Amino acid sequence: MTPRSAHLREDNGKQPAADYVGRFAPTPSGPLHIGSLLSAVASWLDARAGSGTWLVRIDDLDTPRVDPDAESAILATLESHGLRWDGPVHRQSDNQDRHVGAISQLDARCFACGCTRRELRGHDQYPGTCRDRGLRRDGNALRVRAGLAAPEFVDRVQGYVDMSPRTVGDFIVRRRDGFASYPLAVVVDDLAIGVNNVVRGADLLDNTAEQLLLMRWLGMEAPTYAHVPVVVEASGVKLSKHNRATAIDNRWAAHNLAAVLSLLGFDPPLGQVETMLAWAVDEWNIARVPRGATVTGFFAIDR
Ligand code: GLU
Repeated sequence: MTPRSAHLREDNGKQPAADYVGRFAPTPSGPLHIGSLLSAVASWLDARAGSGTWLVRIDDLDTPRVDPDAESAILATLESHGLRWDGPVHRQSDNQDRHVGAISQLDARCFACGCTRRELRGHDQYPGTCRDRGLRRDGNALRVRAGLAAPEFVDRVQGYVDMSPRTVGDFIVRRRDGFASYPLAVVVDDLAIGVNNVVRGADLLDNTAEQLLLMRWLGMEAPTYAHVPVVVEASGVKLSKHNRATAIDNRWAAHNLAAVLSLLGFDPPLGQVETMLAWAVDEWNIARVPRGATVTGFFAIDR
């Protein structure tokens, strides 16, 4: 998927929806690093500058990746950086009945798929192997037929985004282990808590196409999207829990915040966290966030 300059519906999608409800939805696979803090700060600022509600949802469905200590570490980091959320913390795992309901609504579009990751290696897109095999649904993944659908949308940071010439390809809505797939769970969970503005990392841009299709098929209204750049090392490697990006040190909250704000295009006076955030809410203008999938941060990586 390639972001292009916004020439279609120029200001459509630039404005946040009325009665703004935003969220930060970390996967609890480890503590936050500077890249995930950047997404949290951007989504918090966008919500607060729009006098909106900001929710936290822990995306804990991918159980093999869940680290039992991560949720409390993530919440402590948000708190020590002044990012207070509204209401209770939501959890994806509390929503499984809704996931099952949505999957059954899509049933007529789905087929069972027994392909392993290894069998699909090297394919950009699902090659259709199981589409007409009539496999049993139990014990297999469920894939939805996406056909040649290629949604387009206007992203508040990236501008006009369209999928062509690449099409989405048939994608998984229920995994072999019975859990909802990430795109299915996210659209259902966002709807359940009333999210109408999504601000998140540009690494999720590709998933947006699948999510837009799911919302269309499920008769849901799409939120506005703003995909903020992902922080990469000087070498271009994305910071992630897998490459052991250093966890945020909460004792340096003001410095972390200054670093993240400067990567977002703002240059705050260094001070107390609350003062810096209040300054940033006043200054916030999403048009200043660098357009592009990555920004380079110079942070110590503990290898
Ligand atoms: N849980 C996802 C992640 O940590 C993000 C979900 C989203 O923002 O849509 O990558």
